[in-house]
Amino acid sequence: MSDAIEGGCICGAVRYRVEEDAPPVYACHCIDCQTHTGSAFALQMPVFASKFSVDGELTTADHVMPGGSVSTIHACAKCLVRLYTTISHRPGLCTVRAGTLDDSKDLDPVAHIWLRSKQDWDALPDGVRTFEAMPDEADWFEILDTANRLQKGGSG
Ligand SMILES: [Zn+2]
Ligand SMILES: [Zn+2]
Repeated sequence: MSDAIEGGCICGAVRYRVEEDAPPVYACHCIDCQTHTGSAFALQMPVFASKFSVDGELTTADHVMPGGSVSTIHACAKCLVRLYTTISHRPGLCTVRAGTLDDSKDLDPVAHIWLRSKQDWDALPDGVRTFEAMPDEADWFEILDTANRLQKGGSG
């Protein structure tokens, strides 16, 4: 009965499952995401830890952020594909690298953040919500539809 989406690494050793049908995805153009991905931006999908399950051996690495929070990246221990991040000040959340979903072709980011460091050639679609840096908590809560999603999660 549950709507779920799945993904995994490139060698197949790690698989994950999210018990939501379409969690919001955003694009982060910050310098850290460019470095982490070796690309122009990261496609991030924040999901509730209670709705996220992983199967397979992971390796992790910590990164202390400017504010003092610790960001932990979780990667496949064999092929080193980075699958999701957790952050010390938000224990209930896992941020999935949305490009690792089995079906990532039709993802449509709800917002683009950190435009301040966006690469110039990267043209964004008209009408999409953008932020020069990190949105404030209230905007973020609304954009990610957090209240509704928490409510739906009550049954799980
Ligand atoms: Zn792998
Ligand atoms: Zn970023």
